[in-house]
Amino acid sequence: MGGLPFFNVKIGRCFENFIYLRSMEFAEIILPLPLPGTFTYRLTADQQSIARPGLRAVVQFGLRHYYTGIILRLADQAPEGFDIKDVTSIEDVEPSVRGPQLKLWEWMAEYYLCALGDVMKAALPSGLKLESETTIGRNRDYEEDPDNRLTETELEVLSMLGDKPIRIGSIEKFSGKSNILPVLKRLMAKEAVWVDEDLEHKYKPKVRSCVSLNPKMLSPDGKLSSQQLNAIFAMMQRSKKQRDLFMKWLDMSRFIQKAQPNIVPQIDLQHAADCDSTVVKALVRKGIFETKTVKIPRIEIGESATLQPVIPLVELTEVQKVAYRQICNSFRDKDVSLLHGVTSSGKTEIYMHLAMDVISRGQQVLMMVPEIALTTQLCTRLRKVFGKRMAVYHSKFSDSERVETWQRILHNEPEVDLVLGVRSSIFLPFRQLGLIIVDEEHEPSYKQQDPAPRYNGRDAAMMLAGLHGAKVLLGSATPCLESYYQALEKKYGYIKLSERHAGVGLPAMRLISLTEARKNNQLHGLYTRELLNEIRHSLMDNHQVILFQNRRGFAPVVECPDCGWLPQCPRCAVSLTYHRSRNLLECHYCGYTMPWPPKCPICGNVKLQLQGYGTERIEEDLRGIVPIAKTTRMDTDVTTSKKSYERILDEFETQRANVLIGTQMVSKGLDFSGVDTVGIMNADSLMNFPDFRSEERAFQLMEQVAGRAGRRVGDEGKVLIQCSNPASPLLHQVVTHDYESMAKTQLQDRKLHGYPPFTRLIVIYMKGRYEDKLQQLAYEYAGKLRHVFGERIIGPDTPPVARVRNMFIYRIMLKMERAASPKMTRQYLLAVQQEMQRSKTDFARTVFYYDADPL
Ligand code: ADP
Ligand code: ZN
Ligand code: ZN
Repeated sequence: MGGLPFFNVKIGRCFENFIYLRSMEFAEIILPLPLPGTFTYRLTADQQSIARPGLRAVVQFGLRHYYTGIILRLADQAPEGFDIKDVTSIEDVEPSVRGPQLKLWEWMAEYYLCALGDVMKAALPSGLKLESETTIGRNRDYEEDPDNRLTETELEVLSMLGDKPIRIGSIEKFSGKSNILPVLKRLMAKEAVWVDEDLEHKYKPKVRSCVSLNPKMLSPDGKLSSQQLNAIFAMMQRSKKQRDLFMKWLDMSRFIQKAQPNIVPQIDLQHAADCDSTVVKALVRKGIFETKTVKIPRIEIGESATLQPVIPLVELTEVQKVAYRQICNSFRDKDVSLLHGVTSSGKTEIYMHLAMDVISRGQQVLMMVPEIALTTQLCTRLRKVFGKRMAVYHSKFSDSERVETWQRILHNEPEVDLVLGVRSSIFLPFRQLGLIIVDEEHEPSYKQQDPAPRYNGRDAAMMLAGLHGAKVLLGSATPCLESYYQALEKKYGYIKLSERHAGVGLPAMRLISLTEARKNNQLHGLYTRELLNEIRHSLMDNHQVILFQNRRGFAPVVECPDCGWLPQCPRCAVSLTYHRSRNLLECHYCGYTMPWPPKCPICGNVKLQLQGYGTERIEEDLRGIVPIAKTTRMDTDVTTSKKSYERILDEFETQRANVLIGTQMVSKGLDFSGVDTVGIMNADSLMNFPDFRSEERAFQLMEQVAGRAGRRVGDEGKVLIQCSNPASPLLHQVVTHDYESMAKTQLQDRKLHGYPPFTRLIVIYMKGRYEDKLQQLAYEYAGKLRHVFGERIIGPDTPPVARVRNMFIYRIMLKMERAASPKMTRQYLLAVQQEMQRSKTDFARTVFYYDADPL
């Protein structure tokens, strides 16, 4: 290239700007719909001057639907052959979504083969993406803010809302007003209406009326002299109520000590002085008090941190310091590093040191954990060090709390240095990320299963980091083989920590044969005598016990002992699970329930029996056998809200419970000091299912659960694994904590059979009401795919649960070489999909989606 003269370049640029300002008449908008691509709308002249990517815009779609979309980019022309509608209104002055976020969305839609609108739906809290389908309700506790009154239109719309939450579309219909989203949005900002999701949450007012001293009562230096104080009391001579109220105010505001205009919430004051608002009003009339509305953040930002000073980081041990330096070094030439540290080796301490470095450079840190339960424990720990400058983000917060965190990060007000969150936190509008830490990176819960985008938070985090020029630290005691392999290949940095902190040993692992126990008649329910003895020992010594039961394959089911009949879900191809607490049989796939059947419908037997052992049964059995066991249970049945996690964790932490029984959830990084015994109820149920990952997963689960034992000096901890085949090579690797040899065996196997990390998998799912039709389509589809991808196509076949909610399911698997470009793969896949859609009318009616990198 010859290189253009400097002025030419400049003129070129000016010219470009000129075009940009003059003729960007159209906006390509992402709508929260499961449809491919973006939608083009025309901008009015006024809108053209403010429109830019990342702004929210309300547009009409279809006859009566309105959506809040996001402007992806501006364009000077619209696609031909469409009736281009106008943008109804632009909702922001400043973008709600930043540039790197939009890039992440586009990457995600492409890599995970889903609609951009699906990504948008997952990314934005509901409050930011109102649409005709959103249900809203009136906030009964709303009080008009005198500084921010409602307009005529707002009042009119508000008056249309009744007692019950209602779809925005219906309001549009009743009122005859075509577009009320902007009005509703303003009403929402003023907190007069709520998105439905929030109506279930306890309302916390955001503006409160507060009482302060009228400045006229003070001397010019802002103090209250004894003379002035006397004068005030003189004004209240005749009313004891007023004097009491004033005394309470002095007390609560701590005005005398601090001598600054301090405020007290009016409600609290009235409560403390045991009076109503008339007394406050009287003092306002006398010019002693002033009332004003004050904004309070709904999420109490570091309540404890405001009381306690932030404490410094602990000093790292020599071993940890070495690891820390290795990480810093590896970041010089690698973007991703894997910290492979045994449980309790101090990974979290190292994360905090690294985070502090990044923050002191003025950048932000995202710390990801796989499970909400973990944010609870970690939050307390991080709060002590990072105080108010940390934000927490996950789905158990109400929508308005999530909107608030979003806005806080967007405007950096109050400032945020560190975000702790689950996978969805990658969608937040970060300003300048310097580091993303993915803790317990091997956890399958980083992958979103349903609905689209079916993304893996860990992998998306790497993409996000790339967009910010940030580094990624993956941490785990049992890295997933994909990450470990990248480290072996030197694509990622690799740092190993093989000692637990303070010289605590790894727990001693013991295999106990269920087969033997059964033969010798030493099995009580699912408890072997050895396990019961260890539990008794621990509890007697005032230690605690964790019992782990895999849900899969061990849900309790009802069975006819005579003919073997099992009650099935009428809509799904699975057996129903028994729930003792509600005395119901339930389908875990669709929620169908039925009472305990009075008799077997096949043979008429009235003595139906309970088979299998869920956590509920394990808990009940233990209470019967070991009376000193005070049990608590953690599984998806009992942990539906943030509060219940906290309650269970708290119960166990404060020793009100001494046995914690749970599913996968108890394996995830929980840190309890009192636990010295861990029991794995049945290792077979972990290993025996047909999936190429099952052995890796079994190793990880057992090693992780074991890691909950003996995390303090003096107690090494014991782990008992009940299994039917103690000679299994995998179990040998587990009891010797031999990750490396497990990885070696498994990687060899994966290579031989062409599974990840040596290939990339994409599964195509098809669902339909009629099995024959679906099967036929699936075979035709696979045939067409084979024309393009050849031997890389496997199937079709049916998944283990082949029918859910009356829909039959077929799947086709694509195994691509690692080196193949995801973009090309996508193009070929879409081409075949379009061909199917064109030539087969039935195909258009089947539900259909892709799952890239399935777990
Ligand atoms: P991991 O994240 O690897 O499981 P943690 O960081 O949770 O390990 O450390 C385990 C326990 O040891 C924690 O209670 C932690 O506070 C403590 N610990 C780790 N490193 C240190 C250190 N350098 N100084 C003091 N305590 C430490
Ligand atoms: Zn029967
Ligand atoms: Zn069902």
